[in-house]
Amino acid sequence: MKRSKSLDVLMECLARLPGIGPKTSERLAYYLLRVPNREALALATAIEEAVHSVRVCSTCFNLDEVDPCRVCADDERDRGVILVVEDPRDVTPFMDTGFTGLFHVLQGRLSSIEGIGPDDLTIGALVSRSDPGVVREVCLATNPDLEGEATASLVAERLKKKGVKVTRLARGLPAGSTIGQVSRSILSDAVEGRRPL
Ligand code: ZN
Repeated sequence: MKRSKSLDVLMECLARLPGIGPKTSERLAYYLLRVPNREALALATAIEEAVHSVRVCSTCFNLDEVDPCRVCADDERDRGVILVVEDPRDVTPFMDTGFTGLFHVLQGRLSSIEGIGPDDLTIGALVSRSDPGVVREVCLATNPDLEGEATASLVAERLKKKGVKVTRLARGLPAGSTIGQVSRSILSDAVEGRRPL
């Protein structure tokens, strides 16, 4: 017997999510149809609301419901320091360390395998907002792996041409780890001990 069309569509949608293969998508689809309707529909509503209300900040490319985002709009923050991260998910862990400056989200990192080049990232926007008259330091907080390091080198080169001081997180983050995986105290130390590039 063929599966119903809508069940097939649901499984296809789930299988497109990162890390979800055909087996898991099948399990999730059957699960969603077994739980009470309101529970399954709450997921649909949450997706719909997030998609409609969350936008990209036109200054730092963080995600928020307002543009400029609440970090950029916060006058209490130090406008002289910009912490550069790969992904909007990295903003919260750094906020939790007590970092008081601003952020810039690159929206990825250089990757020859995935065909991601400098123009696919928000490097141009970072360089234009890094006015040496206002910005004392740009700290590169890309992940401590090969691609993150390569991205940091390229960004550093562009910023230095503009006369901006560039730093990198302190060594001490486990090699190959991602920002989201390390503990708050390690991240705190890495921000605290940042070094010139
Ligand atoms: Zn912002």
